[in-house]
Amino acid sequence: MKSVIVFFAAFIFSVSLLHGQDVDKNYLLGKFNQNQDERFVQLDDQYTRGSARGAYLRKETYEAFVKMAEAAKVDGVTLVIISATRNYLQQKAIWERKWTADTESKSDVDRAKKILLYSSMPGSSRHHWGTDMDLNNLNNEYFDSGEGLKIYEWLKAHGHEYGFCQPYTAKTDGRTGYEEERWHWSYTPLSIPFLEAYKNTVTHSDIKDFLGSDTAAKIDIIANYVDGVSCK
Ligand SMILES: [Zn+2]
Repeated sequence: MKSVIVFFAAFIFSVSLLHGQDVDKNYLLGKFNQNQDERFVQLDDQYTRGSARGAYLRKETYEAFVKMAEAAKVDGVTLVIISATRNYLQQKAIWERKWTADTESKSDVDRAKKILLYSSMPGSSRHHWGTDMDLNNLNNEYFDSGEGLKIYEWLKAHGHEYGFCQPYTAKTDGRTGYEEERWHWSYTPLSIPFLEAYKNTVTHSDIKDFLGSDTAAKIDIIANYVDGVSCK
């Protein structure tokens, strides 16, 4: 009996501290309120614009971002966060607005795949983790020339020095899932272990309770989208 108790205690401990990280399954699914979670910190207005005003990131992510942004500034590059942490309920609102607006798709899978070009299903977004952010502009073309090109070249050259990586690169390397997003950057000292924890913990039956959630397994969201990244 004693060994059974020890076994279950060890099991619960290992599930609650995934790979030494302070996250559990609900965290990875975005089921928390970052405004009331001491692992998160509110962003200073000087680094944000638009809907990212008053938003939150993990403390570690934000500290690294501030170091990176200050170094970029010295090189004449201004990095601005335009989206940061979005929890499950925030992502559900985005997803269901797009789901309801689409009256043309022939099937639920088609409808989901159209939204999935650039937006995640609730429970499967890296924006849940407090490790990922969108910078400066939500159009790839913006980063083709002028100020945008300067920003993107700087991030590609120096982002890794601060722990940042672009997960959604051009799909020339066989990567699956979302289209290229030159604006989306991830703090890998946290997001790489979080991705491993996600793959070890979350199944498609956990991705539920929103319009069209039964398409998650059909599309194999975890293998094709959550794991369809260049930063691992
Ligand atoms: Zn993003």
